[in-house]
Amino acid sequence: MAKPTGFLEFTRETPALRPPEQRIRDWLPLQIPLTDSGLKDQGARCMDCGVPFCHKSSSYQGASSGCPINNLIPEWNDLVYRGRWQEALDRLMKTNNFPEFTGRVCPAPCEASCTLGLDAPPVTIKNIEYAIIEKGFSEGWITAQPPQTRTGKKVAIVGSGPAGLACADQLNRAGHAVTVFERADRIGGLLTYGIPNMKLEKHIVDRRIGLMAAEGITFVTGVEIGRDIPAGRMTSDFDALVLCTGATRPRNLPVPGASLSGIQFAVDFLQANTESLLNANLADGEFISAAGKDVIVIGGGDTGTDCVATAIRHQCRSLAQFEIMPQPPLNRAPDNPWPQWPKVYKLDYGQEEAAALYGSDPRRYGVLTKEFIGDEKGQLQEVHTIEVDWVVSPGGSGRPAMREIPGTEKVWPAQLVLLAMGFLGPEDGLLAQLAVEQDGRSNAKAAYGTFNTNIDGVFAAGDARRGQSLVVWAINEGRGAARECDRYLMGETDLP
Ligand SMILES: Cc1cc2nc3c(=O)[nH]c(=O)nc-3n(C[C@H](O)[C@H](O)[C@H](O)COP(=O)(O)OP(=O)(O)OC[C@H]3O[C@@H](n4cnc5c(N)ncnc54)[C@H](O)[C@@H]3O)c2cc1C
Ligand code: SF4
Repeated sequence: MAKPTGFLEFTRETPALRPPEQRIRDWLPLQIPLTDSGLKDQGARCMDCGVPFCHKSSSYQGASSGCPINNLIPEWNDLVYRGRWQEALDRLMKTNNFPEFTGRVCPAPCEASCTLGLDAPPVTIKNIEYAIIEKGFSEGWITAQPPQTRTGKKVAIVGSGPAGLACADQLNRAGHAVTVFERADRIGGLLTYGIPNMKLEKHIVDRRIGLMAAEGITFVTGVEIGRDIPAGRMTSDFDALVLCTGATRPRNLPVPGASLSGIQFAVDFLQANTESLLNANLADGEFISAAGKDVIVIGGGDTGTDCVATAIRHQCRSLAQFEIMPQPPLNRAPDNPWPQWPKVYKLDYGQEEAAALYGSDPRRYGVLTKEFIGDEKGQLQEVHTIEVDWVVSPGGSGRPAMREIPGTEKVWPAQLVLLAMGFLGPEDGLLAQLAVEQDGRSNAKAAYGTFNTNIDGVFAAGDARRGQSLVVWAINEGRGAARECDRYLMGETDLP
């Protein structure tokens, strides 16, 4: 235990965010990192409680809690407190291939299940993770470590998001020759073309890809498997295949006027923005601009937040974000106890920026979109909505049903609507070509833990297998699929 009285002496401190008025003028990181001494105090707050719920992924009453990759959190909190940073890095790398990604973008279910969080603010685990890995890079402790021997086995991985990258990293360590195929022009999946630059700068992704390439992994970009290369070549030319293609089919909103110009999927908006930012600092104009427009984001989740923040940086005229569900409570509801993920209201970075600019949180809860109206050229002009509430009908299924509230109809001016309502699963084409079975939600059918599909030697991991999720879960699944793929190739495995 770092310091027996640490949690009594020090209060939780998280890195300050740059003021919204400043950060909306650029695409640079939001946070100002804590100093080493501040981090030492934060590490000291860890109580090394007898049963650390933070480091173990568990399910309580159907809700998951704790770190999905079982990071050894109390151990590295203690080591940071003692200033033994290199040992902390060794511990961290045992369980996490990419702490520089999770340290920036993970929602930190670990902190939601920290024991200290029962009656005090939890330990700032995510920031300590970030600091350990960044110190590792700045001190030069992280260098390419190619495997000593090669097995002669060849593995293809389709998709270069965090699941594909974690899988590739592990299989390469086991000595297999790994090729990662990616249809986009850059590696990284949603790390590169989903999450905006201010949350995850793309040179951080490139830094890791450079290391992995130096360790012997082959990356092939601009190639869509199933279109540019027949899927059958993956199984004939390689000893095993891992599908990490993501859940890339966005949910549509099939209401009248949905095909008007000016209605875009959130991922298309975000991808084009990052691509243009990286290619030309937005000078090429090859992105969907929100400048001077009334923008409505439909979907109150994290992707919607990224759209809000991006539209603000384009200098949109006005902004609203619709959520069909009611506003969550300010504190945990009785049926959502610790250590479950708290379903509570929070002002995320995009909404904070919108509030600073326009005076209030842009989210409108309990709003249903009924219709889009355009002009004679087919360009969107208005969004028509009605308010809804959710009621449990007596004698019904027990689940709340949506009810429109008469008299709450409203017309919103809008020239750009961004649809951020989640994803429906992986695209069917490649799975069909390989004859891989899909489950009831259209994901690649492969059991969690074994990750093997119905086709011998073909595995599936990440969002393509579990549906839309988180970077940390993609890393978990990529590691697991690598372990099972290694077992398939060698008859046994030492991979965790
Ligand atoms: C806008 C947005 C923001 C998000 N923000 C966060 C966040 O802050 N924190 C967090 O934890 N999670 C976040 N997520 C979720 C997270 O990004 C995903 O859960 C994670 O990236 C899934 O990883 P993956 O490797 O399974 O798939 P992906 O990252 O989707 O990667 C799949 C890759 O496969 C490629 N591909 C697909 N088919 C083929 C083919 N036939 N041939 C070649 N390549 C192919 C795709 O081009 C893509 O690059 C966000 C998601 C979105 C959409
Ligand atoms: S990966 Fe996420 S859940 Fe795990 S320790 Fe880091 S911030 Fe917490």
